[in-house]
Amino acid sequence: MLNFINVILPIPLEKLFTYSVSAAEAEFIQPGMRVAVPFGKSKIYSALVHEVHQVPPTVYEAKEIHQILDETPVVTEAQLKHWFWISEYYMCSIGEVFRTAVPSAFLLESETLILKNTKINIDELELLDDEFLVYEALSHQSILRVHEISSILDKKNILPVLNRLLDKNIIILKEEVYEQYKPKMVRYVRMSKLFQSEEKLEELLNSLTRAPKQSQVVLSLFQLQASTKKPIKVSDLEEASSSSSATIKSLVNKNILEEYFVQTDRVIYLNDTENSDLKSLNEYQQKAFLDIQENFKLKKPTLLHGVTSSGKTEVYVKLIEQCLKSKKQALYLLPEIALTTQLISRLQEYFGEKVAVYHSKYSVQERVEVWNNVLTNKSKAQIVIGARSALFMPFKELGLVIVDEEHEGSFKQYDPAPRYHARDAAIVLAHIHNANILLGSATPSVESFYNVENGKYGYASILKRFGNVLMPDIELVDIKEQTRKKRMKGHFSERLFLEIEETLQNKEQVILFQNRRGFAPIVECTTCGHSPQCPNCDVSLTYHQYQKQLRCHYCSYNIALPLACDACGVATLDTKGFGTEQVEQELQTLFPDAKIGRMDLDTTRGKHGYEKIITAFEQQELDILVGTQMLTKGLDFRNVSLVGIMNADTLLNFPDFRAHERSYQLLTQVAGRAGRTQKTGKVIIQSYNPYHQILKQVSTGDYMGMYKEQLYERQQHKYPPVNRIIKITFKHKDYSKLNEAAEWFTKGLRNSFGVHVLGPEFPPVARIRNQYLKNVLIKIPVGQSLPKTKNSIKRIEKSFNAISHYASVRVIYNVDYI
Ligand code: ADP
Ligand code: ZN
Repeated sequence: MLNFINVILPIPLEKLFTYSVSAAEAEFIQPGMRVAVPFGKSKIYSALVHEVHQVPPTVYEAKEIHQILDETPVVTEAQLKHWFWISEYYMCSIGEVFRTAVPSAFLLESETLILKNTKINIDELELLDDEFLVYEALSHQSILRVHEISSILDKKNILPVLNRLLDKNIIILKEEVYEQYKPKMVRYVRMSKLFQSEEKLEELLNSLTRAPKQSQVVLSLFQLQASTKKPIKVSDLEEASSSSSATIKSLVNKNILEEYFVQTDRVIYLNDTENSDLKSLNEYQQKAFLDIQENFKLKKPTLLHGVTSSGKTEVYVKLIEQCLKSKKQALYLLPEIALTTQLISRLQEYFGEKVAVYHSKYSVQERVEVWNNVLTNKSKAQIVIGARSALFMPFKELGLVIVDEEHEGSFKQYDPAPRYHARDAAIVLAHIHNANILLGSATPSVESFYNVENGKYGYASILKRFGNVLMPDIELVDIKEQTRKKRMKGHFSERLFLEIEETLQNKEQVILFQNRRGFAPIVECTTCGHSPQCPNCDVSLTYHQYQKQLRCHYCSYNIALPLACDACGVATLDTKGFGTEQVEQELQTLFPDAKIGRMDLDTTRGKHGYEKIITAFEQQELDILVGTQMLTKGLDFRNVSLVGIMNADTLLNFPDFRAHERSYQLLTQVAGRAGRTQKTGKVIIQSYNPYHQILKQVSTGDYMGMYKEQLYERQQHKYPPVNRIIKITFKHKDYSKLNEAAEWFTKGLRNSFGVHVLGPEFPPVARIRNQYLKNVLIKIPVGQSLPKTKNSIKRIEKSFNAISHYASVRVIYNVDYI
């Protein structure tokens, strides 16, 4: 009898592939194990076993596998079930889900991999454009494959670029990075026993007067020890004393310091002290907690609608505690993990090392480690906290899922496939595990509230801030009028200026929100009207003053700021609009004594970028924090009494049916950073259009008003949550081919769905990285079967793909696009 296995390959294939195995292998192999298999002419992939069987494939002869990679399954049955749902619902291949779901260390490939050389400092200005694109991509993703670079640069022959990058020592090539996970040894340092007493220490410092560097190290070590009970890493000491490892080494050689190694988990847990007691809930929290449990009994996903600072987190904590008592695992999903140091330390205070963080910025090995801990149900990873990808952990006994800030758009993966919504996929995950699921927000998405209204979701609410703190007082300022009356100082109205002044005098802190980074989004010549555009994308270049550069925010193209206009040659370039850099600069002139920080994509690169800024602000080393929407995400600062929104209009005027809902959410969330302690906070919203309905709703905290109005609009125009939508994007570098192809496809769609098809239309930025884009929207009315709709679309795609002229046009599905 012949034996076969069906496997999932980590590539966008519609079907599973069959390989032949020996009887002994068939005996050993279980679904969820990985095997290395040959594919195509020369490729080797690590594939995931789906089933073992005895049915030979009919259309091809099954090849043999190379080897078995695991002793026990690394992926569970429940996960496979979940992945198949994602692939089916979001119209992508199971291979694409596989590829996204597992740590990349699980995906052995015989391809060349490109890695960044982290050993040298790179001057970005020295790089040519194509070199910069690769370099930039490598700072988002630690490993790139040849085909990925080829698509980033949009050309087939990328060898010249790679050779240049190799010459400049910027990249490293690896044939295959599959490495077994190795536990990591960390170097720690402590004072030698001989110098523990104060006397001895003083003697020591006296003896070191001629070696100021060494004495600095000793002092720093003492300070570090005083401020923390944790062991001190050599690297931390180096940083704290700004000294070299040689200095530390010489102290070790003199037996003044002792070095020791500990085999640690790569993900370090801070806690070696007793866990703190949970806080007891106030009456509103308690009521919400009970309501949630009632709904959980009915197995309903439940929405916790609690105003900002109402203490939702403490309610989550109680639910987690309960889940742990029943010996089950808990998953805590957040929109962006980088912004949640505050939350993580809060959870670690309560649950110690039971908290595991799954983080895209962690190394591949660190991720493998969390994966294995979850898979083996270690107590060390009983609570997994992470952004959307944490959803893919191999849970054994999932009891509770919390989706915090459920309204956040970043829960939806935009690119690449699977383009899944983590909130919705989490509901399915909870269902598969028969686990409870709670969605929390101060500003629930219209979708979720709609699901509450139609009885799909349970509901609980907390309408008061914790500790009787009042909601902030929100004031709308008309900048049109202020400009007319010449009351503006730069982009600051008189009202905002005076409030900042007063807040600083009271030694309180200010947050200022402007949803654009850089100095100015547009540079324009006042003589001829020309404004520099990105050569690869259809957008204006944004001016970044710190680097004296014009940059594209879509593809990272950048050039030095030209002295004169490229078109007419006159030196009359001027800026239009303003971003965070400009706000920061104006502030510096208006408030020369204030310490100002900026938090946006440009200042938060690197693993600890956010933490540094957040900590500095928390410790009141900064008086004013200027930032983009990163500021909105659940931060809890004690001393902020004023929040200013520089300009609400760009949000409100965004061309999308969700723009108003989003503006409400964003503004309410930013406003919620104000006055989280006793004193009532103040919020000032500047706008050219202060009578806008949304601004009124924000200022009166009228969520229901916003919801009803938005729902009415959606009903009128047949948008979600009333209808479902699928967006299809066509992508190609040839403008007319794209147009033709999109027309052809849309015609097919119109035949099937008639008036429910909108487009094709160019999006606001119609060309990105030299690829033109065109969108079609399909609205799916209530009652129309979603699977049937998708099947019809797939059928049209099949005929479309059969036309060789269109073969190179990419078709991208985005189900429930947001
Ligand atoms: P939310 O997540 O709803 O914005 P938080 O959970 O951050 O609100 O709570 C706001 C503040 O109130 C936090 O500083 C938190 O420590 C405090 N707090 C909330 N609930 C309690 C409680 N039951 N006892 C003591 N402090 C609480
Ligand atoms: Zn560009």
